[in-house]
Amino acid sequence: MDYLKSLNEPQYEGVVNTEGPTMIIAGAGSGKTRVLTFRIAYLIEKKGVDPFNILSLTFTNKAAKEMRNRIEKVVGTEARNLWMGTFHSVFARILRAEADKLGYPSNFTIYDADDSKQLIKSIVKELNLDDKIYKPNVVFNRISGAKNRLISWKEYLRNPVFKADDESNMKPELGRIYKIYSERCFKAGAMDFDDLLFNTNVLFKDHLDVLNKYQQRFHYVMVDEFQDTNISQYLITKKLSAVRQNICVVGDDAQSIYAFRGADIQNILNFEKDYPDLRVIKLEQNYRSTKTIVNAANSIIGKNRAQLKKNVWTDNEDGTLIELLKATSDNEEGKLVASSIFEEKMQNQLKNSDFAILYRTNSQSRAMEEALRRMNIKYKIVGGLSFYQRKEIKDLMAYLRFAINHNDEQSLRRIINYPKRGIGDTSVDKIIVAANDHDMSLWDVLNNISSFLPGRAANAVIDFVALIKRFKYDIESKDAYEAASLIAKGSGIMKELYADKTVEGLSRYENVQELLNAVKEYVDDPEKEDKSLGAFLQEIALITGVDNDKDDDEEKVTLMTIHMAKGLEFKNVYVVGLEEDLFPSQMMLSSRADLEEERRLFYVAITRAERKLFLSYALSRYRFGRLKNCEPSRFIDEIDPDFIKVSKKFSKSEPVIDTNNYTKSFVSGMRKTTSSQPVVKKTSYKPSADFEPSDTSGLQAGMKVEHPKFGYGMVMEMDDSGANRKAKVNFDDFGEKTLLLSFAKLKIH
Ligand code: ATP
Ligand code: MG
Repeated sequence: MDYLKSLNEPQYEGVVNTEGPTMIIAGAGSGKTRVLTFRIAYLIEKKGVDPFNILSLTFTNKAAKEMRNRIEKVVGTEARNLWMGTFHSVFARILRAEADKLGYPSNFTIYDADDSKQLIKSIVKELNLDDKIYKPNVVFNRISGAKNRLISWKEYLRNPVFKADDESNMKPELGRIYKIYSERCFKAGAMDFDDLLFNTNVLFKDHLDVLNKYQQRFHYVMVDEFQDTNISQYLITKKLSAVRQNICVVGDDAQSIYAFRGADIQNILNFEKDYPDLRVIKLEQNYRSTKTIVNAANSIIGKNRAQLKKNVWTDNEDGTLIELLKATSDNEEGKLVASSIFEEKMQNQLKNSDFAILYRTNSQSRAMEEALRRMNIKYKIVGGLSFYQRKEIKDLMAYLRFAINHNDEQSLRRIINYPKRGIGDTSVDKIIVAANDHDMSLWDVLNNISSFLPGRAANAVIDFVALIKRFKYDIESKDAYEAASLIAKGSGIMKELYADKTVEGLSRYENVQELLNAVKEYVDDPEKEDKSLGAFLQEIALITGVDNDKDDDEEKVTLMTIHMAKGLEFKNVYVVGLEEDLFPSQMMLSSRADLEEERRLFYVAITRAERKLFLSYALSRYRFGRLKNCEPSRFIDEIDPDFIKVSKKFSKSEPVIDTNNYTKSFVSGMRKTTSSQPVVKKTSYKPSADFEPSDTSGLQAGMKVEHPKFGYGMVMEMDDSGANRKAKVNFDDFGEKTLLLSFAKLKIH
């Protein structure tokens, strides 16, 4: 039981005191997730608890997978029987088993935000409301907010407070839209993401026998990142553990960053009230980061008024100062960050995967991506538009979904006329209206289409129905992969994409192939019990941005929003775009509470770093299509200046800046803080405008290179013998030079 020896005292307490309610509230990097992991291993190994009786809820499915792998190292393959995953994925599984109790089919479809917004859009149109007032996004957020507070549409319509609120916001029909939206989802056999939690609460409230069954099943319940649970999630866990009371939650109030989605710090405070004999454990020693980073983080979070007092400290080394990178523009910021990664890699023998670039909003990735690409540094974007949100993938998925659930309205809309079969939008609207007016299911309308549509359109629908029936037969008689392949072909999607010979067309075709590969992988995976296409689709529907990195093991720099970075750690972290209005975000800033949430977000960002932290900002940036001057973020000033070093480096593109008056004024302002400027010798060589060093790990004799000072040359000889790789280069203007590759900036031609 070596793992127990690696724990400090309070951590040990958290692991071995398995009975009764426990709350671990502790700072970033203090081992909360580690304690949860070992606690589960301990329960299985030492207490002989059956993994089937343990439920552990994590922030992402990926985090669950990592936790499971660690536990497997201690207890073996038994760990695979644990109930582990996000709230959404675990309760989707339970809802699937109990769907009939709620009047849903067990193969219910899960609508993603896009499906939901499409449906809202149709409803707004059908009600003849103004879609500039009832924007799908706004309506969706309102409905989502209600569901996360467990307010049903009935209650919404009943409660005069909501009505008054909506009326004062000039949106008096919101309640009615909520009602119709809920009814349509139900009719379509579909649940949206919020329904997965909302309906679990309904299930446990209205069916005590079901609640009892799961109370008996889960002897131990655990929740990581507890600070970001909403009331709906809190009630589910509370109910599940009501009998045995073996509930353990871990979290950090200073890292609560999802209030905008209904997460409620109050859950931490309520927990103490709900469980009078609660064991509270504090972890204060940080194992992740250097003293500099821990102390800088403390200096930031100390500015928040609303917080539980904690004294986070570390025994780790002091480490280097936080580096502040100033750039004139967002593109230059990208270059500074990419060059810094390049240098850090060379000087400290780091891998791409040791680096993360974190930003406030997804759109900031563009400048970073461009700079990394130019320097041949491999990267991956976590989150953003995921594979499964691409049009071609959603199209094929809609066929698969509809072949399983013939009442799925959103899927029908996507596929009934794609590829084109002469069924126009008006016909589709008529079908849907008919189903609602006559209280028939969509499928019944489709099967009696001649009563609703004129000849030609009706014939096209009849062919479509026959096609779907064939697909259904394929699904029932073949394995998921064969069925999905037949549907991809039979639907005409493959042919349609194959006919498009453009680069984009080709990549769409490959993406569809990739989806089929994913089905095959799923079918071949011995860990998956249910190999049906329905089970596959359910799993896919629950993939979140973070889970969606397919090439996980590859050596890549990670780019992600700070919200996605929760719980993760990297050797070097770059927090970019530290400008007023961007971070803290202007959109979020209307009160002190909002500002404090932004500050917690900054705290989360900087506490991801293990050894070195970089902060950067640009003095100008394109936002919403306009070039804007920016001011450095107040968060930079809030860090104790003892921990910060202002970088003396310029971007490698500096020679170009001389020709640009606009940026020059910024640069001259910056020069006051720099000691020297790179001197460019007078030679026939002129540095190219976009000079960017390449990754020289593959440099070989015979290659042509460019150096910012010496110009063009040819590599004569490589010396790989010592720790420091060197290259002997014969430069056209300067003759032979031996360069230390960890310092020299060379562009390979
Ligand atoms: P966050 O708040 O960011 O989620 P956390 O509190 O969950 O952080 P962990 O991720 O569990 O912290 O731990 C942070 C790092 O410290 C991990 O690399 C972990 O392995 C290491 N660590 C934690 N406790 C110990 C310990 N007692 N000895 C050695 N390393 C430890
Ligand atoms: Mg954690």
